[in-house]
Amino acid sequence: MEFQNSLNFAKELDAQDPLRSFRDEFLFPQQNGKPFIYLCGNSLGLQPKSARAVLNKQLDNWQDLAVEGWFEGETPWMYYHKELKKLMAPIVGARAEEVCPMNTLTVNLHLLMVSFYRPDEKKYKIIMEAGAFPSDQYALESQVRFHGFDPAEAIIEIAPRAGEYTLRTEDITRAIADNKDELAMVLFGGINYFSGQWFDMEAITRAGHAAGAIVGFDLAHAAGNVPLQLHDWQVDFACWCTYKYQNSGPGGIGAIFVHEKHFGDQDMSRFAGWWGYQESIRFKMEKGFIAEPGADGWQVSCTQVIPMALYHASLQIFEKAGFMEPLRRKSLTLTAYLRYVIREVNLAIGDEQYQVITPENDDAHGAQLSVIAKGDAKAIFNKLVENNVLGDWREPNVIRFGPAPLYNSFEDIYHTGELLLQLSKAAAI
Ligand SMILES: *Cc1c(COP(=O)(O)O)cnc(C)c1O
Repeated sequence: MEFQNSLNFAKELDAQDPLRSFRDEFLFPQQNGKPFIYLCGNSLGLQPKSARAVLNKQLDNWQDLAVEGWFEGETPWMYYHKELKKLMAPIVGARAEEVCPMNTLTVNLHLLMVSFYRPDEKKYKIIMEAGAFPSDQYALESQVRFHGFDPAEAIIEIAPRAGEYTLRTEDITRAIADNKDELAMVLFGGINYFSGQWFDMEAITRAGHAAGAIVGFDLAHAAGNVPLQLHDWQVDFACWCTYKYQNSGPGGIGAIFVHEKHFGDQDMSRFAGWWGYQESIRFKMEKGFIAEPGADGWQVSCTQVIPMALYHASLQIFEKAGFMEPLRRKSLTLTAYLRYVIREVNLAIGDEQYQVITPENDDAHGAQLSVIAKGDAKAIFNKLVENNVLGDWREPNVIRFGPAPLYNSFEDIYHTGELLLQLSKAAAI
């Protein structure tokens, strides 16, 4: 598409956008009596207007039914997670049995590693991306130590080549093949939080399996952002949070995926709790753990109805929007338009003031663009916020803009470019 850097053009794109009405389903934070241009869905998605009603329904159930709510009412709490599973599956390309909402992301990563990181003397190494989100680094280091290995030796981090910001797939797959004899697991982000790079998850999974390793993904920045095919790609396991692109609210419920090929493995080690016990006989309260088949078998504590209700509200919006295909179509155009307006700003000031480090190929990025700003990047970021454009800041010099197709408009993008230009001109004077 030929873009134009004009308000009329942005408005025209909005008029043609089949998802434009979804913006009205969200609440925008305000500053000085004006809503923010919110480009931070990569960090915390906005509140759906429907969240309060869906939450209130469960508060009413609690009020009216109290303990009977577990088995009575429209959505008995005992089975409430099944309502969510149906809607979660299409978002990540899984079967409903393969996903389950539970806990929070890093907790789930630990629980899944208990099952899937089974190192021995020979095969104990883990390959991950350098500069992974710190929680993942800490989780993996502590898991490796828990098994008696030294993280410095057991964890191999793949870094970009000198002068580059993102990873080349061939460097990842080569490292996997080179370490094949000692490799127990490949654990990658789906999309790197800092660079916005979407890794070739299918190629990584294939390479990991060829090396006899388990392959897992942290999909914090990928779930609800890019189309995923976890089942078809044969990914062994994955976990993600739902408060970023999936708008479930701060501290929202986490989620897991376990490929059905692992369901038959009765000997799989896990940290069990009563909610992972076979559902039909759970309340016999008997000795001896028997896992519920499927991802549900990884549940530990009883269903978190209240955070699940908030996630449910958002999942209903995803369903209404037609899940990932229409969202991704808009997202690609939004992000391409953002890249274009940033380029226009650079052209207008005759300098590479803003350098987008996120890859440009459609299959290597999601909604987010990570931008290195020359000069006093923090001051530019602060000015953006002062002027009602809310992206987010990552040390040392990166501004992340994560336009979300459910609630961002092309006009948002146009105004962001216009503001960047004004700020750069003001700084130059
Ligand atoms: C956001 C994010 C987390 C956050 O973990 P929580 O356990 O939800 O606090 C972890 N990993 C990655 C890659 C993230 O982007």
